[in-house]
Amino acid sequence: MSDATPRDFIRQIIHDDLESGKHDRIVTRFPPEPNGYLHIGHVMSICLNFGVAEETGGLTFLRFDDTNPGKESEEYVQAIERDVKWLGFDWEDRLTHASDYFDQLYAFAEQLIETGAAYVDSLSAEEIREYRGTLTEAGKNSPYRDRSIDENLDLFRRMRDGEFADGAHLLRAKIDMASPNMNLRDPALYRIRHVSHQHTGDKWCIYPMYDFAHTMSDALEHITHSLCTLEFEDHRPLYDWLLDRLQPEHRPRQIEFSRLNLAYAITSKRRLNALVEDGTVTGWDDPRMPTIAGMRRRGYPAEALREFVRRGGVTKKDKLIEMAAFETCVREVLGDVAERRMGVIHPLKVVLTNYPEGQVEMMQASNHPNRPELGERAVPFSGELYIERDDFMEDAPRKFFRLKPGGEVRLRNGYIIRCDEVIRDASGEITELRCSYDPDTRSGTGTSDRKVKGTIHWVSAAHAVPAEVRLYDRLFASPDPNSAEDFMQELNPQSLTTVTAMLEPALADLAVGEPVQFERVGYFCVDSADHSAAKPVLNRIITLRDSWAKIEKQAMA
Ligand code: ATP
Ligand code: MG
Repeated sequence: MSDATPRDFIRQIIHDDLESGKHDRIVTRFPPEPNGYLHIGHVMSICLNFGVAEETGGLTFLRFDDTNPGKESEEYVQAIERDVKWLGFDWEDRLTHASDYFDQLYAFAEQLIETGAAYVDSLSAEEIREYRGTLTEAGKNSPYRDRSIDENLDLFRRMRDGEFADGAHLLRAKIDMASPNMNLRDPALYRIRHVSHQHTGDKWCIYPMYDFAHTMSDALEHITHSLCTLEFEDHRPLYDWLLDRLQPEHRPRQIEFSRLNLAYAITSKRRLNALVEDGTVTGWDDPRMPTIAGMRRRGYPAEALREFVRRGGVTKKDKLIEMAAFETCVREVLGDVAERRMGVIHPLKVVLTNYPEGQVEMMQASNHPNRPELGERAVPFSGELYIERDDFMEDAPRKFFRLKPGGEVRLRNGYIIRCDEVIRDASGEITELRCSYDPDTRSGTGTSDRKVKGTIHWVSAAHAVPAEVRLYDRLFASPDPNSAEDFMQELNPQSLTTVTAMLEPALADLAVGEPVQFERVGYFCVDSADHSAAKPVLNRIITLRDSWAKIEKQAMA
């Protein structure tokens, strides 16, 4: 469905760099830290990094930024790989880790020491904070700042060899303690951490800091354009300082863009983790989560996610995109691909008193209104049916064109029926409708050309497949939980309602990953985690908008 992706400011820079011959080929990277699952914000970064490379015949690395051992895990690594693939991108043989470069990064660090551009500091963490100054006050130099190159090298090697405890020393870049940019006040490059690493085991007890590892990994991978979010704008002077000092053969360029924020959703791994940890959701892949895994399980098509970020564009301005924009993409994609079925979410029994006892007719129903190639299926019709509770109203207003006492309605792909009697239980609740059908009005083949205004869906009671259906709503009740003081207070208590629905028999064979539209109701899919043929569990992906107007128009045509 996508037209060509519009040329945003990053695509313009890339276009110019190719045109001017600055680069023959674009190389980008998507650098997640494996400390959580990817979310809708990451989708934007993935589509941008892989997208600009794909569009220009370039290459993209999937690089795990694994410089924080202890917080990172193999579960997250695997989830990230699965999610990027599912989105439709392929890193081929370019799966790397910052830890693949620990030897080279170490060598770069020694090179900085040897040129007097880095030193080993031995202040305590607290002293370092004090010496750092504030946004309005310059910092001051550490008393260890002027150690000799030899002493620095010796200490750094002994840090590497495990002679010191965590926090005893720190390797810092020697830049400027009075810089207005705090990132340039002698930022840390390497810290001591006696923690084993998921890839390098116990080989290292010093680990590079993010800015250093990231910059030099970009250089080592010959990344041409290092695309990152705006919060790194203030880190760019450090990025460039490191490249100036170390002069790698390939010099990447960092370009920042604004984060994607989605209304009614949280886009921070830390906060999403809090929802998982305290049991607010069932896991990272809970279908209400704005994670890729959650959205996949919910049934959102990958194409809808890609289309959503494409429409959002790439800018330098912070934005909160409306949920409606996302939902429009989902509906557009599903409208094309999802086959139509009938399912009754809140069932109400209908008995056709004049329908021959024991008779079953097979009704032909089209699988897609605009795609005849998807064919038809046979749906059993009988004298006992379920209809949607909402499709019956006792004291109906004049404009209510569904079923009311004494009124008529068409059963989609079936007959016109009339409601003759309303049955209630002792508490007054309506339990059943007694109706009669008009045998001359069978859809398609009936001899009568009688028309009624309303058309409703139904399922034959004897053939119905009962299923647990999970109706999702927004996880948060307020549009901007990211900015709330306590985002946990913004949860929508109605984000999940579970009902037992009655589905047409064809739905028993639905496969994981195959979305369907229950006509007039919404889009659904089987739940990849909890569904089984014996105990069907379906997720509502999204409601239909304005299904009414259309079906009524068709019925009246
Ligand atoms: P979080 O705050 O959720 O932990 P992060 O930025 O720390 O996100 P990383 O794993 O470091 O997560 O992110 C990998 C890449 O995805 C980075 O380049 C980052 O800039 C980008 N990214 C993260 N969040 C967003 C977002 N909301 N919009 C666009 N890009 C994002
Ligand atoms: Mg990060």
